[in-house]
Amino acid sequence: MRQIFGWMKDVVFPPICLGCRRGLVDTAESDVELLCRQCCQEILDLVTPRCEKCGFPVPHEKSFEDKREITPFEFLEGSTRKTPTLGQRSVSGAAVADCLECRQYEFSFEKTTCLGGYQGRLKELLLQSKGASGQAAGFALGQLLGAQVDINKFSRVVTVPMHWRRRLTRHHSTVETVARGVVQQAKIPLDLTITKAIRPTQKQGTLSPAQRRKNMHRAFQIRRPNLIQGQRLLLVDDVMTTGATLNELARGLRKSGAASVEVAVVCRAGWNVN
Ligand SMILES: [Zn+2]
Ligand SMILES: [Zn+2]
Repeated sequence: MRQIFGWMKDVVFPPICLGCRRGLVDTAESDVELLCRQCCQEILDLVTPRCEKCGFPVPHEKSFEDKREITPFEFLEGSTRKTPTLGQRSVSGAAVADCLECRQYEFSFEKTTCLGGYQGRLKELLLQSKGASGQAAGFALGQLLGAQVDINKFSRVVTVPMHWRRRLTRHHSTVETVARGVVQQAKIPLDLTITKAIRPTQKQGTLSPAQRRKNMHRAFQIRRPNLIQGQRLLLVDDVMTTGATLNELARGLRKSGAASVEVAVVCRAGWNVN
């Protein structure tokens, strides 16, 4: 019966790709429900070499020692999904010493998985995901992100929380929606109760990197630390710029007993870079 309803729904409301608005002829063509294969390919930035630890773009020549060819759909092909890692798609991670950001800041997280920079199709979809009816775009980006993480490495997914006062003025939390897409794809339990924003923070966009770090200081609380004792956590956010927010949270999570914290973000914008 369910199948019949599903079939009827597809006839009456044929699924449309959120990226290019073309009809999705075969919804099983990619693991991401509402993005076509071509859009997934456009979104996944496989060209820019990035620092393994913080996802910041690094000089090309230093990080491409391994010239192994990567198929963008390595992870999408076949009926059973493989478990790709960032290493698979970023060719070879840059050494931390090569990264300007890591040289400057001591990040408390161990690794960053991202889809790409703040540009092109990814930027469009991210902006879409923040709108009133942006849940589908946020969820699809989360699914694509979830396909990039090595699911065997993590025991729990946590998120960058939104302060309740900001929540009043938003339609939904993009980060939460993205995280739901990640766990749907990666099959890792999501816990939204562990991290809490305990004071409203200024909008980061207008602040300098130093001000951003100050702005985030003691902005979060780690609740129920017993749940994260010895856990390998994946911390999800939508956009990472200076990494101040993620760093503050990762530091708190480690202090509260997490064995490790890695970061997964839709977009690694960087400070004045894409
Ligand atoms: Zn498309
Ligand atoms: Zn770095």
